[in-house]
Amino acid sequence: MGSLDQSITALPGVGPKKEAAFERLGIRTLRDMLSNFPRTYDDRSVMKPIALLVPGESCCIRAMVATQPKLSRVRKGMELVKFQAADDSGVVDITYFNQPYMKNNLHVGETYTFYGKADVIGRRKTMSNPICERGEQTRYTGRIIPIYRTTAGVTQKNMLDAAEFALSQCDVFPDLLPAEVSSAHNLCQAGFAYQNIHFPADQLSLTIARKRLIFEELFVLACALKRLHSDQSPKEGLKLRTAGTEEFYATLPFSPTGAQRRTIDAALSDMASGFAMNRLVQGDVGSGKTLVAAACAWAAAKSGYASVMMAPTEILARQHFHTLTEFLSPAGLRVGLLTGSMTAKEKREIKSQLLAGKFDLLIGTHAVITADVEVPGLALVIVDEQHRFGVEQRAMLAAKGQKPHVLVMSATPIPRTLALIIYGDLDVSIIDELPPGRQPVDTLLVNESYRTRLNGFIRKQVEYGRQVFVVCPKVEYEDEASSGLRSAEAHTVYLQSVFPDLQIACIHGRMKAKQKDEIMARVLSGEIDILVSTTVIEVGVDVPNANLMIIENAERFGLSQLHQLRGRIGRGQHKSWCILVSDAANDVSRERLKIMTRLSDGFAVSEEDLRLRGPGDFFGNRQHGLPETHIADLGADMQVLTAAQDAAHKLMAQDPELETHPILRNAVERMIQSAGGTFN
Ligand code: ADP
Ligand code: MG
Repeated sequence: MGSLDQSITALPGVGPKKEAAFERLGIRTLRDMLSNFPRTYDDRSVMKPIALLVPGESCCIRAMVATQPKLSRVRKGMELVKFQAADDSGVVDITYFNQPYMKNNLHVGETYTFYGKADVIGRRKTMSNPICERGEQTRYTGRIIPIYRTTAGVTQKNMLDAAEFALSQCDVFPDLLPAEVSSAHNLCQAGFAYQNIHFPADQLSLTIARKRLIFEELFVLACALKRLHSDQSPKEGLKLRTAGTEEFYATLPFSPTGAQRRTIDAALSDMASGFAMNRLVQGDVGSGKTLVAAACAWAAAKSGYASVMMAPTEILARQHFHTLTEFLSPAGLRVGLLTGSMTAKEKREIKSQLLAGKFDLLIGTHAVITADVEVPGLALVIVDEQHRFGVEQRAMLAAKGQKPHVLVMSATPIPRTLALIIYGDLDVSIIDELPPGRQPVDTLLVNESYRTRLNGFIRKQVEYGRQVFVVCPKVEYEDEASSGLRSAEAHTVYLQSVFPDLQIACIHGRMKAKQKDEIMARVLSGEIDILVSTTVIEVGVDVPNANLMIIENAERFGLSQLHQLRGRIGRGQHKSWCILVSDAANDVSRERLKIMTRLSDGFAVSEEDLRLRGPGDFFGNRQHGLPETHIADLGADMQVLTAAQDAAHKLMAQDPELETHPILRNAVERMIQSAGGTFN
C-alpha cells in the first residue's frame, strides 16, 4: 500500500514521457487520478444468449468459436476474418474488418466474451468487429467501462490502468465528510464512491457514487467559501440615522410594495449598524429597485451625507437622473448628473458644485464616477446592474477610502443559492413582487416565414396608437454583410420601405449621447412609431405606451438578456407582446427560446439559463471566480448545493478552523489553492 500522494510514475510503465502527458490532463499524483472522474461510461454489462440478440443493440455474448476463422481479401486494402461462434442458444456469424491478426488470436473450441452491436441478416445473427476477451476475468467486456478524457500520449488503456492502480494503492479511502453529514444525507462510504465512479458495479452503484461525490465536492466548495469570507470581518462604517421612512413614502406618487419595504428596511438597518453595508438587491425587471436606491440616498441625506449612483450606460444614467429627481426632489434632495458625454466645462461645473456640497445624490456612468470624482461626505455608493459591473471596478470602489456603504442592484436575477455562494460577502435582498397592475408580456417564437404577418401586426399596433421596439443583434450594414445577422441600420431601411408613412428611428450604442437623448425624447413624446435599436434599449428606457417588441435573430441573445429586453414593454396598461424571430435550425437554440415563451418570471428564466449554459458562461469569462468543479454541475445540482452549503455552515459554526476534521481541512486548502487563493 502506498500513499495517494505518490507520483503517477509509481504506476508500472509510466516514465518521464507518459508523466508529462498525464500532467497535461492535470494528473500528477494518484490522488489526482482518483478524482479525475470518467467523462462518460460505456455500459457493456448486458450479457445475452445469442438467440435473444436484437438488431442494433450492443451487448455481450459468451460464445465458443465454432468454425476455423478464415481470412479473405475482398478487394485491395480490405481484409475480412469470418467465423461462427455458438452458445447453448444459437449461432452468430462474426466478421472482423481489417484485423487479419484475429485469425490467429481466436482458437476453435475456446470460449470468449464478445461485445458488439448485433444485426440480423435474413435469419442469421451477425456481429462485426466485436471487442473480444478470453477467459473468465474480463476487463473490457461484461461490465460498465469508464471513458476518460485522454490526450496525445495517454490512451484509454493507460487511464484505466492508472485508475485501477490508484484504487489498489488505497486500503482506507480518505473520507472527508464527517460521519454525521454522510448519514444525514444518505451518502455512501468514500471507498464505495471512488471504486464505483471509476468501475461501476452497475448503474445503481454509479448513481449512489455520483451522489456522494457531487455532495462532497460542493461541501468542500461551501467550506472553502465560508473560510474565505469569514476572513473578511465586517468593516466599520458610518452610523446613519435612518428612522422615519413613512415620512419619505408620503412624498411618493405610489405606495411601496411589501417587498420594497422589506428591502429598504434591511438596507437602512445595515446603514445604522455601525458596520459598512454590503448588500445586493435582486429583483426582476420592473420590480422597482430604483425606489430602494432612492430611500437609501434619502436616509444618507437625512444624516447629512452624500451618495453616488453608478449606472452602466449613459442612457440609464440619464433615466435614473430623471426618475430619482422625481422621487427625491419633493423630499428636498438635490440630485446631480455627471456623464462622459458632457463637455469639459460642464463636468468642471458639476464637480465644483459637488465640492461645494450642492448635491445629495450624484448619478453618473461608472467609468466617469470611478475615475476622478471627489465626493465630500460620501456615505453611500449605489451600483446599478451588477452584472455589467466588473470585479476591477468593485476593487476601485473599495479603494475610495471612506468605506462607504455599498448597495448593488442587479436586474439579472441570479438564483439565490448561487448568489450567496458567489457573493458570500454580500447580504442579499430579493424583491419578489411586482408593483400592482402589471400584465405579463405574451412571448411568441416565430421564423422568417411569418415576416408578412409580423409586419401586419406592427401596422395594427401603430394604428391603435401604440409604439413598437425592434431589437437587432448588430449595428451597421457592414456587420450585416459579414455576419448574416440583421443590423439595426439596415433593418431600419427595410422597415421604412414597408411602412413609408410611419415615423421610424434607429438608436444604437455608437451614437453620440446627445443624438440618443433626442431620439429617446421623441419616442417618449409618442412622435416615433417604431424604434429600431441594438441592446442599448436593454436597460433603462421606460416607455409605457410601447406594447410590442420584436427581437430579430433572437438566438443570438442570452435568455437573461432576452428577459431584460422584454422587460422594456408591459409597463403600461396595454396588453403587450414580445415576438422572438429566429430561423435557428438547431434544436438547442429553439429549445432555449421556447423557454422564453413559457416563463415570465426572471428568476425562473435565469435558473434555466444557468442550467443550460453553466455558471461559467452565465457570468461570462469565469468572472464569478469559482474554481472549476470536477463532478458537480453548479447549474444542475442546485438542490445538492443548498444541502451541502447548510451542512458546511453548520459544521463550521462549531469548528471554524476545521481542527477536528483534518482531512476535510486539507481538501478545503487544496481547493482554495487551486482557485489561486481567492475566489473573487
Ligand atoms: P427596476 O427594478 O427594473 O429598476 P424600476 O425601479 O425602474 O424597476 O421601476 C419600474 C417602474 O415601476 C417605474 O416606472 C417605477 O416608477 C414603478 N414603480 C416602482 N415601484 C412602484 C410601486 N410600489 N407602485 C407602483 N409603481 C411602482
Ligand atoms: Mg432599474
